[in-house]
Amino acid sequence: MIALKDVTKSYQGGVTALAGVSLTVARGELVGIVGPSGSGKSTMLHVLGTLDRPSSGSVHIDGYAVQELADRELSALRARHIGFVFQHFHLAAGTSAIDNVADGLLYSGLRAAERRRRAVAVLHRVGLGHRLEHEPHELSGGERQRVAIARAVAGEPSLLLADEPTGALDSASGAGVLDVLRELNAAGTTVVIITHERELAAALPRQVRMRDGQIVGDTADTAGARYAEVG
Ligand code: ADP
Repeated sequence: MIALKDVTKSYQGGVTALAGVSLTVARGELVGIVGPSGSGKSTMLHVLGTLDRPSSGSVHIDGYAVQELADRELSALRARHIGFVFQHFHLAAGTSAIDNVADGLLYSGLRAAERRRRAVAVLHRVGLGHRLEHEPHELSGGERQRVAIARAVAGEPSLLLADEPTGALDSASGAGVLDVLRELNAAGTTVVIITHERELAAALPRQVRMRDGQIVGDTADTAGARYAEVG
């Protein structure tokens, strides 16, 4: 699903956010990318989500060689294959849960009635069948994040990228959101969660640890030999 090889990313001003990262994630995995602030996690998410191109190295997402695609093709790849969830939900104010989710399908080619039907189905799936007509300000933080997740997966992406999805939530709501992500993963979606919370990461089947733009540990590396520090 994901293959990064020797990926670097430098920003103007000489900051190296990714300093030679190689990572493989198989279809169906649930992976946490964990590290302190400034370690390169967001940059990694942008590269994985094809929102940003690396300075060097190769990126393959769902079989596509990102470096060979034009910007327009990358947009199509994102729209069809990748869902995004962010810390602060990014829902449209004054818009019902159904419409927030259905509007995410605006460019899918589906008719309005079908977009709505799918939105209702996916809202039920994340446990919000009783909140369909609620607007964001009428929902709790955990419920808002569930709407955001529903929107991200309504188009049935094969890859779901979540950037600090529980960062703005109390621990009970955060645990609920994590459960939803686990269920989606169990149903077949590959899920990558970026977090600075070690406790959250520890609850995931695979953890990749970052520091200073490099991977310094990967629990999938069972040999344990590749990194100085694992776990
Ligand atoms: P994290 O998500 O782990 O906090 P980031 O990927 O956001 O890490 O940042 C990694 C490094 O790159 C940091 O030193 C940060 O200041 C720098 N950085 C991130 N984005 C930019 C940018 N757009 N321009 C310049 N420097 C950036």
